[in-house]
Amino acid sequence: MLNLKDKQLFREMGLIDGAWIAAASGATVDVHDPAKQAAIGTVPDMGSAETRNAITAAERAQRSWKRKTNAERAALLETWHDLMLENVDDLALILTTEQGKPLDEARGEIRYGASFVKWFAEEARRINGHTIPSPTPDRRIIVLKEPVGVCGIITPWNFPNAMITRKVAPALAAGCTVVIKPSEFTPYSALALGVLAERAGIPAGVINIVTGMPAEIGNEIMRNETVRKISFTGSTRVGSLLMRGAADSIKRLSLELGGNAPFIVFDDADLDLAVEGALASKFRNGGQTCVCANRLLVQSGVYDAFAAKLKAKVDAMKVGPGTEAGVSIGPMINQAAIEKIDRHVRDALAKGAKIITSARQLPDGRQYTAPIVLTGATTEMELAGEETFGPVAPLFRFETEDEAIAIANGTPFGLASYFYTDNLKRAWRVGEALEFGMVGLNTGSVSMEVAPFGGIKQSGIGREGAQAGIEEYLEMKSFHMGGL
Ligand code: NAD
Repeated sequence: MLNLKDKQLFREMGLIDGAWIAAASGATVDVHDPAKQAAIGTVPDMGSAETRNAITAAERAQRSWKRKTNAERAALLETWHDLMLENVDDLALILTTEQGKPLDEARGEIRYGASFVKWFAEEARRINGHTIPSPTPDRRIIVLKEPVGVCGIITPWNFPNAMITRKVAPALAAGCTVVIKPSEFTPYSALALGVLAERAGIPAGVINIVTGMPAEIGNEIMRNETVRKISFTGSTRVGSLLMRGAADSIKRLSLELGGNAPFIVFDDADLDLAVEGALASKFRNGGQTCVCANRLLVQSGVYDAFAAKLKAKVDAMKVGPGTEAGVSIGPMINQAAIEKIDRHVRDALAKGAKIITSARQLPDGRQYTAPIVLTGATTEMELAGEETFGPVAPLFRFETEDEAIAIANGTPFGLASYFYTDNLKRAWRVGEALEFGMVGLNTGSVSMEVAPFGGIKQSGIGREGAQAGIEEYLEMKSFHMGGL
């Protein structure tokens, strides 16, 4: 059914212990192309039994994987990275076909995803322990770093490649093995990574991929005592469910959850730079990103000028299938996404907001939505309280710096935030006052492999990328040598 360039790059099967297999029941789940709302293929609908098998395989594989030298593990990761880049076009086409984002963005995601594999291949060589000066002369104390063990990796549909590599690369570098449960909406990008890992020579059982509907698979990952860590990216609702489920066996957790990013434009900002940043932050992936500007706070003095410049750029955006040239907004992932966007816009209009972007004809298909700019947004509107996850840019007006900071921080979430100013003192003041894991000053992008990525408050626990990223997969062991 699939019409992709290199069908060999993925399989319509799960991957357990090096074997590509169907569900024991034979059941399957359809995978859709959101641009056509048509099924493009199936994957096995696996459950507890297959997940248990995958966990057992990962445990077995870990015994030898952790004994490889760090340089050996690094070399395998390097090969995996190289294969990702060699196959960037095919991986991007698979990604766009199941997820919808424009092909150029999909290529960008593959390169971004690969950058984590490269980075953690390098970090694998630097898993250094340390020594501690002993309080007594007859003792020496060293701290060893050891892999956590088998990790459950649960990922969302909005970055189906990079959310996997950002977790799996540090896990493997540290000496852990993994059971991946990709989103049921975007399993092929995960399976393609599995094919390339196999080609790279990563041993059977080190990476296992269990496909299907989430409840049973998630439950087994949560409850199974062999799984020592869960790394999850997705909604705060599911993150909190996993946290509760993981409590009984005291698993380690990394949670990358939802955001509600403020994007503040002060009177003294470079407006063109701010518009450019707003476009990148708000409209990338059709607004379906966790670090997406959700609330654009604009100071009174530049409100109208900023609104007019943003409107002109948004009016020029092309909406259509991600595979079509020049498209910057693809289809949304599913009908539920469209309904949430519509609900937020209807609520905002009922409470006094106005759409200033021009009306446009959308391509055929129910999963498209127009990118819009809304003026007159207020904190009473639904879109101020939760992620819209769509191409809607609501502009809130503010008068003073204190007011902007209070609005920005007035959310239980704390993932990304952005602000624009040319005033150095204000840059420090506001940067320090924003209660978020990531702050962008005069930039709309805060995500790269070299810097820690993650949130505070209800946006999560732990960091990915950077040096911190590998620590999430390492335990410390204090080794005391006495009688010396
Ligand atoms: P989601 O929480 O619905 O799903 C994420 C993953 O969890 C999927 O694989 C899904 O199948 C699985 N899942 C669902 N129910 C489960 C259960 N009961 N047990 C175990 N697993 C279960 O999120 P989504 O809609 O796929 O992704 C969008 C959300 O992810 C947004 O809130 C977004 O902000 C967030 N996100 C956060 C980051 C970050 O780094 N902080 C990055 C990307 C997306």
